[in-house]
Amino acid sequence: MTIRPIRPLATLTILMLCAVTTLQAQQQTFPTDYFKHPLQLPVSLAGDFAEIRPNHFHSGIDLRTGGKEGEKVYAPADGYVSRINISAWGGGKILYITHPNGYRTVYMHLSAFCGEIAQFVHNYQYDHHVYAFDIDLPKDSIKVKQGQLVALTGNTGGSSGPHLHYDIRYASNDQAINPLYFGIRYSDPIAPTIDNIKIYPANSSTTINGKNAEWFLNQPKKNSKTSNRQDTIAIAGRFYTGIYTYDRMEQGSSSKNGVEKIELYVDGELFHRYQVSSFMFEETRAINAIIDYPQYQRNRNYYIVTRHLQGNRNHWSAAYRDNGYLQFDDNGIHRLEYQVSDYKGNITKRTFYVRSLPLPDETKDSLRNIQAQGDPIIYFKPYTFSRDGFTVVMQPYTVYENDEVLFTQSTDAARLSQRYTLSLKRHPLPPHQSFNVGIPIPEKVPASLRSKLTIVCINGKSTSACTTTIDGDRLTASTRSFGSFAVRLDTVAPSVTPVNFGNGKRHSASTLVVKISDNLTGVVAYHCYINGEWVLAEHDGKTATLTASASTLKRGNNKVTFVVTDAVGNSVEQTWTLVKS
Ligand SMILES: [Zn+2]
Repeated sequence: MTIRPIRPLATLTILMLCAVTTLQAQQQTFPTDYFKHPLQLPVSLAGDFAEIRPNHFHSGIDLRTGGKEGEKVYAPADGYVSRINISAWGGGKILYITHPNGYRTVYMHLSAFCGEIAQFVHNYQYDHHVYAFDIDLPKDSIKVKQGQLVALTGNTGGSSGPHLHYDIRYASNDQAINPLYFGIRYSDPIAPTIDNIKIYPANSSTTINGKNAEWFLNQPKKNSKTSNRQDTIAIAGRFYTGIYTYDRMEQGSSSKNGVEKIELYVDGELFHRYQVSSFMFEETRAINAIIDYPQYQRNRNYYIVTRHLQGNRNHWSAAYRDNGYLQFDDNGIHRLEYQVSDYKGNITKRTFYVRSLPLPDETKDSLRNIQAQGDPIIYFKPYTFSRDGFTVVMQPYTVYENDEVLFTQSTDAARLSQRYTLSLKRHPLPPHQSFNVGIPIPEKVPASLRSKLTIVCINGKSTSACTTTIDGDRLTASTRSFGSFAVRLDTVAPSVTPVNFGNGKRHSASTLVVKISDNLTGVVAYHCYINGEWVLAEHDGKTATLTASASTLKRGNNKVTFVVTDAVGNSVEQTWTLVKS
């Protein structure tokens, strides 16, 4: 098989096109007086559009609700309810309204729905005996008018405090757009903060201030909260840069909000630009390719880097030369200037200088002697791997750059299978999309227990079960991380522990709360019955609780039953007698 190198000219053209796309998105005008603000509270932003979160961009803005739940949410314009999604995780209770002007608005972490929407949700849950569901609704089956009360704010799903998450998207393809382009009135008198800038060696021969290592522009002082600024860096060889920056909107605010635009000028010429006006959900995981991923894993500081990986097809980060790498071989001094803007146009600048040093000749030679150690993977081609029964199948563009796959095997703790470990040698980033792994079913497992087998992914101390299917005499699973894979058996049912009631005790509270947990494959179904009648139990992922209404308890003795089931069908059923006076 031969690999055709992409001609530098073609690469440049693609990048120029990308830059043009970004500019068009930015110049596109959005209606600024169509949507009324959904809350009757002063606008205070706890989070911005396209802030970097684990494996994704934040798809909207987070509106503060004064630390309280239950604030009224009003439809910002006429339209109809087009989707309702309720989950113990992520956005919690989510409402989607589609408007006749081609946009769709989305509200997350709600505590409740109102009016006709609430009635619809209640009926759906009692008809299907579920709390969590996700359905699209036909056009105009539930219409809403501008200013109509549609929901109450809350803290459901992955939210860490009461607020309203608000998205605006194109109705046609669900592409998320920055809601601040739609005329939301807010104040932001403070320019962005540039926390730090980092210089990265591009390879093992680059030296930055004499070392082949990353260099922080602001060097932390020992035993002090302040840092030493250094404005001239001596560099030999190829390098790239990164910046950690955020925007505060109010004096003393603890929220580090996102910025609108980052530009790096090299000797007065635009070299790199980062700007996210809109994005598709399928591409958002590519943020891992534009940040300094190892640093993000260490302390959640997201340095946006200039280096452009070839398999990263997004248009948010455009390098105007040489895939975002720099190299000066002229013994000269070069001026680099970062300019960071927020959505109000406040700009912060930071200038530093690179003194270019020549690379010693012997290091140039040693570059040619790098030996491949792993199995080569080409980012734009499918990849398969098979060793001792363990198989891997990847689609094109699963990794962001040509690389080598490293493979080892060892004895797994459960001794059902080997532990198979995959990693990338050169660019240790998570894959852009899922890939499949396959492991033979261990012969020693009796046929009766095969349905309880699962493939697990082991990363350091964390072991998580993948959704596993049995395919003949093999187990297969889809995964979105590298790491170690092995086979485990899950024969343990979930546990249920009452929080606010006890067997034979009097109960006067309005709810019944239990804690649930599972050892491996996780809870997938749960039911609560009061005297044999199904009642809604709301699942909250972050507190691992089920909360049911106690309103149907009768005077005297009542039987309360919870049934909880994991992903491989292990089930627990527990019943308590409660007395109501
Ligand atoms: Zn949010």
